[in-house]
Amino acid sequence: MDLDDNTGFALARRPIWEAASPKPDFPALAAEIDVDVAIIGGGITGITTAALLAQSNLRVAVLEAAQIGSGTTGHSTGNLYATVDQNLHKLSAKWGELKTRQVVDSRRRAVDLIESLVHQHNVQCGFSRQPWTLYSMNADPTANNTIEHEYQAAMRFGLQARISNDLPVPYPVHKALIVSNQAQFHPLSYVRQLASAIRSGRCEIYEMSPVTDVDEDIGLIKTLQGRVRAQHIVMATHTPLGISLLHTELGVYREYAVAAPLHEAQLSGGIFWSAGPEKHSTRLVEIDGTPHVLIIGGKHKTGQKEDAQAEYLKLEAVLRRNFNSGDVAYRWSAQQYRPADSLPYIGRMTAGSRLLHATGFAADGLTYGTVAAMMIADEINGVSNPYAELYTPRRFNPMKAAPTFIKENLNIASYYVKDYLKAPEAKEISEVARGEGRIVEVSGNKLAVYRDEAYQLHVVSPVCTHMKCLVHFNQAERTWDCPCHGSRFSVEGTVLEGPALSGLKKLALPEEPMKPGEGTVSE
Ligand SMILES: Cc1cc2nc3c(=O)[nH]c(=O)nc-3n(C[C@H](O)[C@H](O)[C@H](O)COP(=O)(O)OP(=O)(O)OC[C@H]3O[C@@H](n4cnc5c(N)ncnc54)[C@H](O)[C@@H]3O)c2cc1C
Repeated sequence: MDLDDNTGFALARRPIWEAASPKPDFPALAAEIDVDVAIIGGGITGITTAALLAQSNLRVAVLEAAQIGSGTTGHSTGNLYATVDQNLHKLSAKWGELKTRQVVDSRRRAVDLIESLVHQHNVQCGFSRQPWTLYSMNADPTANNTIEHEYQAAMRFGLQARISNDLPVPYPVHKALIVSNQAQFHPLSYVRQLASAIRSGRCEIYEMSPVTDVDEDIGLIKTLQGRVRAQHIVMATHTPLGISLLHTELGVYREYAVAAPLHEAQLSGGIFWSAGPEKHSTRLVEIDGTPHVLIIGGKHKTGQKEDAQAEYLKLEAVLRRNFNSGDVAYRWSAQQYRPADSLPYIGRMTAGSRLLHATGFAADGLTYGTVAAMMIADEINGVSNPYAELYTPRRFNPMKAAPTFIKENLNIASYYVKDYLKAPEAKEISEVARGEGRIVEVSGNKLAVYRDEAYQLHVVSPVCTHMKCLVHFNQAERTWDCPCHGSRFSVEGTVLEGPALSGLKKLALPEEPMKPGEGTVSE
């Protein structure tokens, strides 16, 4: 295991994008304000929606729990494409040619919008037009059939596609689909600079302002220190906050990333997706003039992986096998929400509601989040949008959603029941080693116990405040993750992401230090 020599703990996790993106400062909301539109969440969806609405004569406020771009946007790969993660040929088998064509059109327009916002606001985020590729490394029939079917689909939907075995990567490629004129950028610089550019007296942006309550009926939002009254509320939090029917339609997954400096020019600009059982997304990122290779993969359901740390090690092995690089300098992970019927949910759940949703983007949300911003801005401005029906959250498609819907919800139900019935991971707090988190049963009560580097104990309730499932410890990130709907909490119980509106209850226990050297990080 790749551990820091001094502490025995895993190396720091930090997305590569933070290395080259100065952080703007926005205040926390500490007053009561009245706006036309309140946008909850300052990722690409929230900031793009604000950018579009700022052009209308509306008063807008963005409420961000942490920092602009600090959610999945700032932990993504920064690839922009009209194709989709689940493959166009599969989408068209499910939704038909007409609707899949609309998906491609909407996504193509979103990439064009990002390009025009970059120029309009002089955003320095390395936006460039690049090819999107899907390749195999050997004659594996499944991977090569996928590439062939995707090629046929790309051609049918008007994308500039061709087949080749010549990619600018340092390893052998058997067959590749190349779609031209897609794009790449630096996602964190994009949202941070866009947010700075649109900030004005009529477009207020607040950081460190977690929303703790939303009363949709009267249009009142409470944050830790402030309140907002709004005609329209945009839920741009990646997954809806609080209880929502939409959660039953979303599967929640974590995915991992590693990046290392390259010793020589081995990779050009472009989006490189491997087809086959082990799916990876690879790209080049320049940081202060040094080329880095970035690899993403290792997707698994949130809160349901015993050894999440192993995913970093697997990615690092891929990186070392395929590239002549320095040590891994950045590693991080992030969350995605996969919709049961393969299309995102954008718009109002009920006609006339003041709440607008934007979720279910899977791994395609830099583009889908921008599609959502365009649709929501149109909806609020009373302009009809050609994709409103396609992505409406009011759609009900049992035939298209059923297999995934049933699988995901059975999975949640099984965790709910299993976790309450199963034996605790430890019976004594002393069994929790340094760097470990375990569910311990004390006097019949289950406790979530973490012992930090200084041997201090952090004890919280393991009951997720969202829908009362039991959280699991995520060893790779030192967090408590809920296997049901993806709420994640720090070892202190603070909400990190997901639908939960309040933290895990802190519990007091007598401090119980271990002797130095006693206990190790479990590997
Ligand atoms: C590893 C990985 C790589 C990816 N790469 C790509 C890619 O290359 N291309 C692509 O198109 N998509 C990619 N995606 C998907 C894409 O990054 C996301 O779908 C997209 O960034 C979502 O944007 P968002 O603004 O909706 O959500 P986020 O960026 O997550 O923003 C939501 C914001 O809401 C805030 N928030 C949450 N709760 C509250 C609260 N209570 N009060 C106030 N604010 C709150 C959060 O702090 C956060 O900043 C990737 C996903 C993963 C996991």
